[in-house]
Amino acid sequence: MRFDIVTIFPRFFDGIFEHGILRRAIAEERVAVATHDLREFTHDRHRTVDDRPFGGGEGMVLKPEPIAEALAALGIGTKAERGSSLPTHDAEERAMDGAPASTRVILLSAQGRRFDQSLARELARIDRVVLVCGRYEGVDERVNQLYCDFELSIGDYVLSGGELAAAVVIDTVMRLLPGVLGNEASSEFESFGTADADITTDQEGVPRSQHGAGGLLDYPHYTRPAEFGGLRVPDVLMNGDHQQIRLWRREQQLRKTLTNRPDLLAEAELDKNDRKLIEAFEIETTRIEAADAEGR
Ligand code: SAM
Repeated sequence: MRFDIVTIFPRFFDGIFEHGILRRAIAEERVAVATHDLREFTHDRHRTVDDRPFGGGEGMVLKPEPIAEALAALGIGTKAERGSSLPTHDAEERAMDGAPASTRVILLSAQGRRFDQSLARELARIDRVVLVCGRYEGVDERVNQLYCDFELSIGDYVLSGGELAAAVVIDTVMRLLPGVLGNEASSEFESFGTADADITTDQEGVPRSQHGAGGLLDYPHYTRPAEFGGLRVPDVLMNGDHQQIRLWRREQQLRKTLTNRPDLLAEAELDKNDRKLIEAFEIETTRIEAADAEGR
């Protein structure tokens, strides 16, 4: 898979991909990342990439011409030239369309479709992703209309530029590519993992969670020492009963998801036992809250 990043700050990415599994994935040529300096595609003495907004108002806007030239240098034409006819609002369909040989041009924007693990899985099936990083007040809208398959936001907040967002997207997608994580870990068994992976064991023979994470958050992890800061590792993790460990982990996944991200439960793959556990947690929480209120 190849990522091309169009940016006014190519040095921003110095070092970002030189650590851990990302460095290994690049060294093993499972993925390539190239940055492209937008200022290289200007023709004036000041290498101008921005201009004042039509209609007035705060800040500056990235001009369309340098971005169009940068994309042309990457062999990327307009959507019309690329034969893209899908409506721009259906990001999911667009991202899936055209597999296996495929290129997608993405505009990083706070106004975009929100990035999540399932979109990362879709992008991991694409051969080449071109990421256009905005700055200032953003990018001239015609770049989006003419060239970008969809706009992508990494969350409901405003960054000062698309570079951090591009790095987040690349990091997340790259670790889903075959062979990048190796055998020791699988993205199926992490937070937001796919549903209903078969029960498999890890290297120590310990069964993984009851299903793939199934859209739930991950369970808590512990390592040595067995006691730290007055807190002991839960006994169940040290008694060697793999069935109990598996059930405990599932219970913890449900508890953490209910506490931190109850919205995920609506879409999660839950069985009868899961639902009973959630009900029990909810009753327990109500009881504790009522006791707290009485104590006040
Ligand atoms: N005027 C824009 C708005 O209100 O939506 C904000 C522009 S922001 C200061 C500059 C650039 O940062 C954007 O063009 C975009 O590329 C990037 N950016 C900001 N927030 C982002 C987010 N949540 N996800 C992805 N990119 C973001």
